[in-house]
Amino acid sequence: MEEIQIHCPKCGWEPDGKPYWRCTCRTQWDTFSTGARCPGCGKVWEKTQCADHAGGCGKWSPHLDWYDGLDDFILRLKEEIKESWRGSGLLIH
Ligand SMILES: [Zn+2]
Ligand SMILES: [Zn+2]
Repeated sequence: MEEIQIHCPKCGWEPDGKPYWRCTCRTQWDTFSTGARCPGCGKVWEKTQCADHAGGCGKWSPHLDWYDGLDDFILRLKEEIKESWRGSGLLIH
């Protein structure tokens, strides 16, 4: 992808596209490939945990805080992700 950097806002760990995240429905996937939505059950994970088993810090941060890059581009990306969350029953503040 262009001009997007994704890293943990707490420790700077960068995901490498591997499926480090596991949903309560037991689906395992790369949460950044779907904008935090589980491909198995459709649940949106508004917060994303840093993958401590892959060298990260294991702390939870808002999913959208992980994205960094050119302001305009990132703002639009975040809007798109939030838009995709609509209808999931999630309250967006
Ligand atoms: Zn799921
Ligand atoms: Zn981290």
